[in-house]
Amino acid sequence: MSTLSNAFSSTSSSTAIVIPGSPVLEISYQRLHADVTAFQHKLAALGITPASAVSIALPNSYPFIVAFLAASWQRAIAAPLNPAYKQSEFEFYIDDLSSALVLVPQGEAEGLAVKAARKYNAAVAECYLDPSSQEVVLDVKNAGKLSGKGDVPLEKAQPEDTALVLHTSGTTGRPKAVPLSHRNLTRTMSNIIATYKLSEADRTLLVMPLFHVHGLLAAFLAPLASGGSVIIPGAFSAKTFWQNFVKYGANWYTAVPTMHQILLKTPAAWPKPLPNIRFIRSCSSPLSPKVFHELEAAFGAPVLEAYAMTEAAHQMTSNPLPPGKRQPGSVGLGQGVEVAILDADSNVVPQGKEGEISIRGQNVTKGYLNNDKANAEAFTPGGFFRTGDQGLQDKDGYVIITGRIKELINKGGEKISPIELDNVVAQHPAVSEAVSFAMEDELYGQDVGVAIVLKDDKKLSEGEMKEWMREKVAKFKVPKRVFFTDLMPKTATGKIQRRNVAAAMLEKDK
Ligand code: ATP
Ligand code: MG
Repeated sequence: MSTLSNAFSSTSSSTAIVIPGSPVLEISYQRLHADVTAFQHKLAALGITPASAVSIALPNSYPFIVAFLAASWQRAIAAPLNPAYKQSEFEFYIDDLSSALVLVPQGEAEGLAVKAARKYNAAVAECYLDPSSQEVVLDVKNAGKLSGKGDVPLEKAQPEDTALVLHTSGTTGRPKAVPLSHRNLTRTMSNIIATYKLSEADRTLLVMPLFHVHGLLAAFLAPLASGGSVIIPGAFSAKTFWQNFVKYGANWYTAVPTMHQILLKTPAAWPKPLPNIRFIRSCSSPLSPKVFHELEAAFGAPVLEAYAMTEAAHQMTSNPLPPGKRQPGSVGLGQGVEVAILDADSNVVPQGKEGEISIRGQNVTKGYLNNDKANAEAFTPGGFFRTGDQGLQDKDGYVIITGRIKELINKGGEKISPIELDNVVAQHPAVSEAVSFAMEDELYGQDVGVAIVLKDDKKLSEGEMKEWMREKVAKFKVPKRVFFTDLMPKTATGKIQRRNVAAAMLEKDK
């Protein structure tokens, strides 16, 4: 397996995809192969040539999957976009890749993505499953820059072709465009299959969006390449999660900690008896040891925390399946990926010391698009990619993330890890969620702020929290300010952007 064209078997007898609904749509591997081939023909008829960018502004759905695979088979670049973007965001992404074609759902030919597409003269097509013919339709509304360029040959993808461009989440700055080749993607798929021993017998419930590497690689492409089944419901809710999990016989899922927490907080939706869950994967944000233990206790399944990033085509490390050791608070071991902890001069630091987590492997992008500065900073002479995350490796090689280098709070030269403070604050019995961040400070340059969501029936004052922190951490780490909020600001994938939390808290404080 070195390209997405040969990543799944077209003769497997299992169901590839299940789309809940009435009627339920069950797609065999043969049908998936035929539908992707047919859609590739449509893209070629429209004029999609190698390296054309196809922006896919579709929700998690069968048309998304068919369009994504067909674009990559045609040697074009699939560029999934969050359908909930605002017009300015669509414009940024469509312009950044000079998209040739923008795909939108049926009936959305006047939506924000289309307005943005028009500005850059990209072709626009509605893409949907026709209920009577059962065909995935490419209904071209406007050929834009593809006018008169149609009927190009069918292509065959090569391992070094860029199959996908996604932007980083923009947690620490402007989102960066990351090209990922067929080789990068298929390597991650093999790594994930090996880590979790995925097979034809597995059934995954997809709850993450397909427009980020987490959902796309871990919950869709890797299961597909293992010959298993992927169940793709619409929007996530605790109730439909369990209904679908039971009804369609899922046996594992992967999600961000926020979703695990929603499931934990809604016991009324838990099925009785609980289904057998082979494992639960957590990735993309830190999973506190407290939530790790609560999850294992509640759902009786091993919780495997993994560590991933867009530039690595998702997974870098993961805790292993039993009988391997799971270590709460650690993201586990390199999985088909070399890990090194480097100092600022790219030397390996002594074992157990903190440094920048760096990785090397065939899954890693060859470099950001049009961003020489970021590439010069990211790649070492030895071919390691610097992740921007700070951490260490214990004596068994388990990686512990201690923070993001750009998010460390620098209090008069004293570096403070916000993740460490989050975990301490979260141990307070009244606290449901805590996010620490840097605040400007006249004396120290930066000082510590923390935003807290309290548990429903609990009360706590700023003074009480500070008093409690004084017992738990060194004096310089005690927050200067404690803010209380009902809702923690988050991104679409449930990520915390500390600078946004800081801005929201300071704004409320005015
Ligand atoms: P940007 O690079 O634009 O600032 P981003 O790094 O958030 O955004 P992504 O590629 O989506 O964009 O996320 C990768 C980052 O997510 C990692 O570098 C790491 O900081 C964080 N991350 C991923 N998994 C975990 C985890 N299990 N625990 C803690 N952090 C994690
Ligand atoms: Mg990043």
